[in-house]
Amino acid sequence: MLTLENLTLAYPDGESGTLLALDSVDLTVPDGQMVALVGPSGSGKSSLLAVAGALVTPTSGTVTIDDRPVTGASAAERTRIRREDVGLVFQQPHLLPSLTALEQLQLSEALSGTRPRDSRSAAREALAAVGMERAADRRPHQLSGGMRQRVNIARALMGRPAVMLVDEPTAALDQDRSAEVMDLLARLTHERGLATVVVTHDLESVPVADRAVHMRDGRVSEH
Ligand code: ADP
Ligand code: MG
Repeated sequence: MLTLENLTLAYPDGESGTLLALDSVDLTVPDGQMVALVGPSGSGKSSLLAVAGALVTPTSGTVTIDDRPVTGASAAERTRIRREDVGLVFQQPHLLPSLTALEQLQLSEALSGTRPRDSRSAAREALAAVGMERAADRRPHQLSGGMRQRVNIARALMGRPAVMLVDEPTAALDQDRSAEVMDLLARLTHERGLATVVVTHDLESVPVADRAVHMRDGRVSEH
């Protein structure tokens, strides 16, 4: 479960002003629920994901993942949270051109000290979870946009996260591929009991989520 309580994130703006990227945000996402986060550009959607994923420290308020406090945790604990508790998926897959799909997934494990043999089976399992097991040995240029985004999602599953944070995963995809990616995220959320937040501009994909939350000027609302 992901719990955001009274979150505020202020950026300096101009001579003496501040801009509230997040303004008193409360949001609870239970296990196995996918929330679609929608709102105009600049409304604070990416800021919300960055704070929820321990990438950015809020000005005030708390983030909790499964009863473990994220805000106020030590730097070492926050690194562990980013690696093990949170799966992050961005719009652009950021895959390394020279690595196969399997190797992309193994790389993140190698950086955290897992033995290659262990990471190999974990990577195969994650690729299977997104329907990409037969493309394990392909490099990014041999994959379609939708397949690259699947590898990206598989990579986010490698740490066995409790929380999945996804920022506009379908922005670069056509309607059919977008629907496939949203269906995949919903299935993984339900099968693995993830607490998932997906930022989307694509209103057709909102009904795939269990719940829609709107964002405007740093505030969230549900209706
Ligand atoms: P969205 O993802 O909904 O487009 P963002 O979370 O990226 O919105 O941005 C929310 C607001 O915070 C915007 O006004 C943006 O300009 C501002 N902002 C985002 N990141 C920074 C930053 N690093 N420094 C200053 N202002 C920022
Ligand atoms: Mg954004």
